[in-house]
Amino acid sequence: MSQKIRVRFAPSPTGPLHIGGVRTALYNYLFAKKHNGVFCLRIEDTDQARYVAGAEDYIKETLGWLGLVPDEGPGYGGDFGPYRQSERKDIYLKYAQELLKRGKAYYAFDTPEELDARRKMEAERGNHSFKYDAHSRKEMKNSLTLSEEEVQKRISAGEPYVIRLLVPENDTVTFEDLVRGQVTFETSELDDKVLIKADGMPTYHMANIVDDHLMEISHVIRGEEWLPSTGHHVLLYKAFGWGDSIPHFAHLPLILKPNGKGKLSKRDGAKFGIPVFPLDWKGEGEDDHYPGFREYGFLPEAVINFLAFLGWNPGTDEELFSLDQLCQVFSLDKIHKGGARFDYEKARWYNQQYIQRTDDGKLASLVRPIVEAKGFSPDDGFLTKVCGLLKERCQVLPDFWENGFWFFDEVKEYDTDNVKKRWTPELKGHFEKLIARLAEAETFETPELESMVKAFINDNGLKMGQVLPLLRIALAGTMKGPGVFETMEVFGKEETLKRLKKALAAFDDIAEA
Ligand code: GLU
Repeated sequence: MSQKIRVRFAPSPTGPLHIGGVRTALYNYLFAKKHNGVFCLRIEDTDQARYVAGAEDYIKETLGWLGLVPDEGPGYGGDFGPYRQSERKDIYLKYAQELLKRGKAYYAFDTPEELDARRKMEAERGNHSFKYDAHSRKEMKNSLTLSEEEVQKRISAGEPYVIRLLVPENDTVTFEDLVRGQVTFETSELDDKVLIKADGMPTYHMANIVDDHLMEISHVIRGEEWLPSTGHHVLLYKAFGWGDSIPHFAHLPLILKPNGKGKLSKRDGAKFGIPVFPLDWKGEGEDDHYPGFREYGFLPEAVINFLAFLGWNPGTDEELFSLDQLCQVFSLDKIHKGGARFDYEKARWYNQQYIQRTDDGKLASLVRPIVEAKGFSPDDGFLTKVCGLLKERCQVLPDFWENGFWFFDEVKEYDTDNVKKRWTPELKGHFEKLIARLAEAETFETPELESMVKAFINDNGLKMGQVLPLLRIALAGTMKGPGVFETMEVFGKEETLKRLKKALAAFDDIAEA
């Protein structure tokens, strides 16, 4: 590609960033990096009514957590700023004037009440889809129907007006979407979109096109919900005389609910008990609280890998890719057209793969807050070893607690059923001898412990199954968990003996009860 690749992620700060938005950011990032291009963040905050404080910070925190750091954007630098649309109001007004001058846009004075009345009247006549378009504009109050003097008079008198795009009549708009192929709109389907609102702010369409042009965006990669707007966007480029530099478009497939039925929505989080946002979000309202992938205990690498495959794959059987590897292999032509099912089990599988590949010390630092929230503060060395032992079985970070809480607290409950089934009074003497033997052990490491305990079992004419499960219950309270000798090593001699002695007393009581 000889053209300089510049892409943008252009979220509106109207609440927490949906996971679909994160995928859009990811695909933009991957495409930019693959082609040595530039990844911009642009904040589309022209809709004051929908603006939510904290949403921009949330977006930035998400990108930072995932490692998708913008090359340009508000707070990131760049030569094409400002990157917040609310700071570019004058630019849009200037370009709107340009369109008026070129005869591609017009003033419209119809008040919201008048438009409502018209809509009602049309509905009564059976036309439920009234549009301000080539047909109806001739009957409305605008600079196409009013005299120039009248228009000037109204403007000088401070009468509110909007500026609308003059959509050409009986024409077709065609563009090549890099995912969907050729897309065509008849202009008769397209209304005269408002470009500048009565409050002087641009609409999404206006600001988006002016900025993509001024920021020299080469590729617009965004969600499929924007496909219907693209007809207007192409018309706008042409209206400005920028027809030769229209960016390439790639519209990404929808993300579907876990059951494949319909689009994934924020309510599906609570419904399916899954995260649909990257990070925890707490809004103003009581219900406006959504836990994120991070709080569910996902690693950013896993979220990246999972999202990359939600609507794309490299065309091979390989599934595990780091962000750097994805930057190498990503290509727009492998994006799927059909919706991508949000398979939460797959997300957990990815997380498990990345947990297994994460260094034990790093895992310890991630698991520490979970353990501390439960009131324990193990030392680093111990926690690191525990994480190493447990990591194979954990899909999300809270699993470390679920599977290994007994590492941090003394055993409060023993697996009564199994103790009853396995404990016999004769075993008591054997266990006492074993404890004494262990107390003399010089090294307390897995291989030595294993040969020592196994030799003890043999020498005393016992069976593995008589001793090992009970040893495990003595240490952990449960038979589930990592290997018994590994566990002993992690506990060390003192703690192991303490637990075995305590269990011995408890087992008698349980067996008798
Ligand atoms: N502000 C739009 C959004 O919130 C941007 C759409 C686009 O990328 O053009 O998704």
